[in-house]
Amino acid sequence: MSKIPSDIEIAQNATISHIKEIASKINVTEDDLEYYGKFKAKLPLHLQKENPQGKLILVTAMSPTKYGEGKTTMTIGLTDGLNTIGKKAIAVLREPSLGPVFGLKGGAAGGGFAQVIPMEDINLHFTGDFSAIEKANNLLSAIIDNHLQNPKSSLHLDPKSIAWKRVMDMNDRSLRQIIIGVGGKANGTMREDGFNITPASEVMAILCLSKDLEDLKKRLGNIFVGKSIDGKAIFARDLNVVGAMAVLLKDALKPNLVQTLEGNPAILHGGPFASIAQGTNSVIATKMGLSLGEYVVTEAGFGADLGAEKFFHIKCGQSGLKPDVVVIVATIKAIKYHSGLGEESLNSTDSFAIEKGFCNLEKHIENIQKFGINPVVCINAFPDDTSDEYEKLKALCLSKGVNAIVSTAFADGGKGAAKLAAQVVEAANSLNNNYKPLYKTTDGLEHKIKTIATEIYGAAGVEFSSKSRTQLKMINDLGFNAFSVCMAKTPSSFSDNEKLLGRPTNFSITVREFEIASGAGFIIPLLGDVMRMPGLPSFPNAEKIDIDIDGKISGLS
Ligand code: ADP
Ligand code: MG
Repeated sequence: MSKIPSDIEIAQNATISHIKEIASKINVTEDDLEYYGKFKAKLPLHLQKENPQGKLILVTAMSPTKYGEGKTTMTIGLTDGLNTIGKKAIAVLREPSLGPVFGLKGGAAGGGFAQVIPMEDINLHFTGDFSAIEKANNLLSAIIDNHLQNPKSSLHLDPKSIAWKRVMDMNDRSLRQIIIGVGGKANGTMREDGFNITPASEVMAILCLSKDLEDLKKRLGNIFVGKSIDGKAIFARDLNVVGAMAVLLKDALKPNLVQTLEGNPAILHGGPFASIAQGTNSVIATKMGLSLGEYVVTEAGFGADLGAEKFFHIKCGQSGLKPDVVVIVATIKAIKYHSGLGEESLNSTDSFAIEKGFCNLEKHIENIQKFGINPVVCINAFPDDTSDEYEKLKALCLSKGVNAIVSTAFADGGKGAAKLAAQVVEAANSLNNNYKPLYKTTDGLEHKIKTIATEIYGAAGVEFSSKSRTQLKMINDLGFNAFSVCMAKTPSSFSDNEKLLGRPTNFSITVREFEIASGAGFIIPLLGDVMRMPGLPSFPNAEKIDIDIDGKISGLS
């Protein structure tokens, strides 16, 4: 394989079409485009049909490692692959957050010859959706503090009970826990507060689960703010702030149209993290994609135990969407890593390690099969892989009744994913796939958590801390038992211990505490420490990024 230029070099050398050309490929006329320059446009909500006919392809992955499995890259590659074989396919993805862009991971616009462009815009402010979400979130914060300041407020909010935090789209650990209102009575009520990163905001989760503006407003109103001095639950609707929050979000609610390097349509919209939220783009964008194209290829964050499970139970559960095909991305390196091989040995050919580490992918395959869908495995090709390793892995997948196809989309673009695309089309038309969730919304919360733990993680059982038991009672008393469950667990292991690689057995998971996202319609069982405001690494990407006097950006990855 010859050396592949950097992502930004490839993106800047690409031919980019006017966005109206891309829109015309999916029969969207200029009348329906709200231009943000020549290469980005917002799409109006009426393009979303009630019962869209497109096929929904979810791209997920085995348990992720620090080496990167390439879900976004494979999603974009598969979209180009489907178009290469003559299908009308649209990539529907999340918008990147500035935290990872300036921190360690980098952007989220794909890689190599499978990217969405203009990548500089997409990875930076894009069309301002994150800023709008941040403003709506922080408006609620300001109104809360205004109530605390106002002696005539009838809400009698208890400052110690406030569950709502401010947000900013930046990795900045020093804002995690702060004291606000210092400096005397005129400067507000002194209390503990903190900042979360914008993709961790419940407003983000809400925007991405809303069906339309009306649903958005209803959900914003349902945000749990805290309690009154006499213990009554207070919601955002009690603060008369919903209208103003919705006004701030009116454009952010509309999906954004861009293009892949090969000039195929890509809709990017919303960006909730997979750690404490559903980890996938908006319901509106997915439905719109299914209304405009024959195939939608979309991604869920982290591995399938988190991303796919949340995609099914939360996103599909709340919207009525149904996946037709599931693609599990695997890499040879990740398989070897899950065999327990040390870092130093990961680059040498090792068939035995493939056999041993396969147990991780195997469990993910079995899990997707439990939902009534036989997945397709996509082996994301890296330069050090060998054909012996591919053959071994394909045979192991076949022993589970699953086809594994190597995708070279990173190096070759759409033609490198044409074979995978053909397999996906076959799977989409298979009469054997019939999606069904593992729990019903009416099942109790404890039952839902146990179902996920035992069926998906392979746990023997679930322990609840005494704090979480008390909270669970309060959540049930508030009438939230029909909510979805949004697990907050390490992505590195099926268990809640990140060191247990492969396919751990004989373990139980512990729910330490709960958080409520009543606007989003889920509760979050916390199984470990969850980072809602990441920090920067010692040498952040931000230090490599620059712009020259001609406006050319460098250093973005
Ligand atoms: P995910 O969506 O799973 O987090 P991404 O698609 O964002 O993963 O990819 C993570 C990183 O790995 C990116 O920097 C991407 O460019 C790189 N990458 C993905 N696939 C390949 C590949 N086949 N060869 C080399 N680098 C790759
Ligand atoms: Mg991704």
